[in-house]
Amino acid sequence: MEKHVDVAVIGGGIIGLGIAWEAIRRGHSVALVDPDPATGATQAAAGMIAPASELHYREEHLLELTVDSACRYPDFLSSLAWTGIDPGYRKTGTLVLAIDGADRTALADLRDVQTHHSLSVEQVSLREARRSEPMIGPAATAAFSAPDDHQVDPRKLAAALLAALGERGRLVQARASGLDYDGRRVTGAILEDGSVLPARHTVVANGLAAAQLAGLPCRLPLRPIYGDILRLRVPAALQPLLSHTVRGLVRGTAVYLVPRADGTVVLGATMREDGNSGVSAGGVYQLLRDARQLVPAVAELELEEALCRARPGTPDNAPLLGIVPGADGLIIATGFFRHGVLLTPVAAALCVDLLEGKPCPPGLERYRPDRFEEGQA
Ligand SMILES: Cc1cc2nc3c(=O)[nH]c(=O)nc-3n(C[C@H](O)[C@H](O)[C@H](O)COP(=O)(O)OP(=O)(O)OC[C@H]3O[C@@H](n4cnc5c(N)ncnc54)[C@H](O)[C@@H]3O)c2cc1C
Repeated sequence: MEKHVDVAVIGGGIIGLGIAWEAIRRGHSVALVDPDPATGATQAAAGMIAPASELHYREEHLLELTVDSACRYPDFLSSLAWTGIDPGYRKTGTLVLAIDGADRTALADLRDVQTHHSLSVEQVSLREARRSEPMIGPAATAAFSAPDDHQVDPRKLAAALLAALGERGRLVQARASGLDYDGRRVTGAILEDGSVLPARHTVVANGLAAAQLAGLPCRLPLRPIYGDILRLRVPAALQPLLSHTVRGLVRGTAVYLVPRADGTVVLGATMREDGNSGVSAGGVYQLLRDARQLVPAVAELELEEALCRARPGTPDNAPLLGIVPGADGLIIATGFFRHGVLLTPVAAALCVDLLEGKPCPPGLERYRPDRFEEGQA
């Protein structure tokens, strides 16, 4: 029989690890269940903390969360400094480039929306853009600067969170098969061997796989949105290739290059709903082709890794986050789609507020995990 804990977290991706750490640092006993932590979408993520340049039409409602979370990052990371693991947080800012006329129009229209929401995005001359990033190629025809869009290295952040969990909480290396739910209250996680991890509060944070847990009080309409992503090493002669995150619209397709402090560059990412979980040759071709339009020297880099992972998507691209009426002791935190790394600090804080019985902030109602149930719309 597993020891009773205050909080059982199912899933050790960036979201589950973040929630576990927030609960630990507020004094709760925590056990996190995951057979293979940080090997899902977290392993692939570029780690852009980019509320402005990641803003998409019809996702403006997410800004309250994304901007709040970006502001919480420095404090969240400083709480982990004692682990001695540098999470690769870099205040690089972001440059956004357009290639053809339609890309320019789309980015200028987006800039209007961004400034309407008080996000700091400015058009800069190409001369100015090239002064700060000399590797920008001749195909760029317009540039925008998003100085507050930064980055973290999700693998390193996950390593720091795992180290913190190992020191002050407990990792249960097993798969959860369901929830111990009697129709009124969830009292723990059921593990694959049939044993129960009893807990006062259970948090479902296992990304895409959350929908398959037995005993859920509502349907979780998650779907995989695959992303191919590359890691490239910059040869010494080309160091530093970039000092900002450089992203762009290349004839309508988004691509980004995130320079890491260790001399690598992360090049991403495709968005596919074709059901193929392996790295797509067409996806890799598209990424390299488009990145070369922004920064031609990409062709000179060494390909270290090509990876594909699925983002946990929802019908409205917003997370499933919060409590479910009729299931006391349960919190759901999944469906973070393109924003899970960015949203980790705020999701962690909100989930622990909820399990501590603090009132649900009004804006959080919008993300109710059961909002797609009949009668909830
Ligand atoms: C190519 C790509 C690039 C991205 N770039 C960014 C970015 O720049 N910025 C950003 O904010 N977001 C980015 N994202 C999105 C981000 O990666 C996700 O939103 C985030 O990882 C979701 O975190 P998660 O913890 O919910 O899920 P995951 O990271 O998928 O973790 C789920 C965990 O649950 C575990 N698990 C599964 N089933 C069970 C079970 N039954 N029992 C116990 N554990 C289980 C898995 O082992 C895994 O560790 C990107 C995603 C991709 C694919």
